[in-house]
This record gives sequence, structure tokens and C-alpha cells, in this order.
Amino acid sequence: MGGTREARELADIASGEQGFDIVSSLAGRVRNPLLPVGTVRVGGFGGVDGLREWLVANGIDAVVDATHPFAGIISANAAAAAADLRLPLAHLRRPSWTAQPGDRWIRVPDLAAAAKTVGELGNRVFLTIGRQGVGAFAGLTRPWFLIRAIDPPDGALPPRHELLLARGPFAVDDESRLLADRHIDVLVTKDSGGDQTDAKLTAARSAGLPVVMVDRPPLPEGAVVMESVAQVWDWLRSAAE
Ligand code: NAP
Repeated sequence: MGGTREARELADIASGEQGFDIVSSLAGRVRNPLLPVGTVRVGGFGGVDGLREWLVANGIDAVVDATHPFAGIISANAAAAAADLRLPLAHLRRPSWTAQPGDRWIRVPDLAAAAKTVGELGNRVFLTIGRQGVGAFAGLTRPWFLIRAIDPPDGALPPRHELLLARGPFAVDDESRLLADRHIDVLVTKDSGGDQTDAKLTAARSAGLPVVMVDRPPLPEGAVVMESVAQVWDWLRSAAE
């Protein structure tokens, strides 16, 4: 279950191995997704029941939830379906970002809390939470927003904004220039982790800007969590023995 760079890396490694037949699943949110190698299916399963049926119909032996750390629903569905069918399941989650000296992070539990907090911190907001969830900020009429996403967000947007469509990775110099050009005084991001989109954090640190950091949703209780593709690959190979 993919939609992340790690999921593509895992498909890449597994595709060359005899005895492994991998199917990658994407939700179909992004118009022009980066596709993993090998077999790919696209679209929702239809909740836990649909996922369970799909797993049985496709003779799946093991499930890797390599979805984004903020894709909480599909992770919970994977846990429920795998438990029902007694299939081995691992959640691949890249480590969270950790603050470094000089960082001014304000951690918040969710996007609603971020929207409450951001208005108190600045007037020109760089909103880098992706396409989904921008609606949480739609009611903020005073601050101006620079909204960056791969595809345009659906639904209501804050009235004062500029939309910047771009896909990472981003370089620190470019991020610093963007912050300066748009006179940004606060950044909002989800704690996605990884090195593809962390340049904005370095740029914010250099500029002394506060960062509203939205915490990840919790994984299901008892989840088997692995932090690297290599770890999951070892686990898959030993599960297959
Ligand atoms: P979500 O809220 O956890 O899932 C909502 C619904 O989308 C699920 O109930 C499921 O529909 C479907 N779905 C999600 N991931 C799927 C997958 N890999 N394969 C098939 N169906 C999937 O997920 P989300 O936050 O909308 O994220 C959607 C996808 O985008 C994920 O695969 C994730 O890896 C990727 N992504 C998300 C973010 C983010 O910030 N949320 C960022 C980058 C990439 P059914 O109930 O019908 O099965």
C-alpha cells in the first residue's frame, strides 16, 4: 500500500527477486502519480470489507502499509483487514523530523489546532501540508497564505492566498528565496519526515521563522512499525521462508 517514495523503493527491490509477486496499491489522489515498477492497482478498496475481499481474491500473503504517515484511515483499515485474515502486516514509517538547535517549532495535534495557532504567529503563512486539509484554514480571513501542493486543493481555500503547484524534492536555497520573496513570517507543515521536503525546515531555521508542526495521527494499537525499506525487505524475506 503505497503513495510514498519508500513504497516505490520497496517495489523496486522486490521486483528483481524471484519468488516475490508484488502488487502496489495507490489511492489515485494525484493526477500524474510517480508509479512504482511492477503491478499497480489504483483506487480505494471500499473500506475494510472491500480491502479484505481484495486481499483474498488476489491471494495476498503479506501486507506492507507503506502509505504516508498522515494516511491514517488506510493504515487502520489495513490493520483491521490483516487481523481478520491473520495476514502478516508491517507499517513502514520513516522517522519523524526532530527539532535542531535554532528551530522554533510549535507542535500541534492536528490541522484544526494548526489553524488556531497560526493566526497568532504571523500574517504571511507558507502552508505546506499538501492538497488535503487546506480547508481547515479556509475560515482565516486575515493572514495571507502561500499554499504549495502537487495538485490544486479541492474545496474552500482561505480568501487571501497564492497557489503554488510544485512537487519536491526542494533545495534549501530555493526554499530560502521563496520565504524571502513572499515575505513569509510563519510556516505550517505536517511532520512527514524524510529528506525530500525538509529543506523548508532548514530555510525556516536560517530565517528564524516559527514552524507550526502538525503531529502524525497514531498508528493502530499493536502495530509492527519499521523505519526503513531495508528492514521491511528483510521482514518480507523471512516471512516468505
Ligand atoms: P487516508 O485518509 O488514510 O485514506 C482515505 C481512503 O483512501 C481510504 O479509506 C481508502 O479508500 C483510500 N486509500 C488511501 N490510501 C490508499 C492506497 N494506498 N490504496 C488504495 N486506497 C487507498 O489516505 P489519504 O491521506 O487520503 O492519502 C491517500 C494516499 O496518498 C495514500 O496512499 C498516501 O500514501 C498518499 N499520500 C498521502 C499524503 C497525506 O499527507 N495524507 C501525502 C503523500 C502521499 P477505501 O476506504 O475505499 O479503501
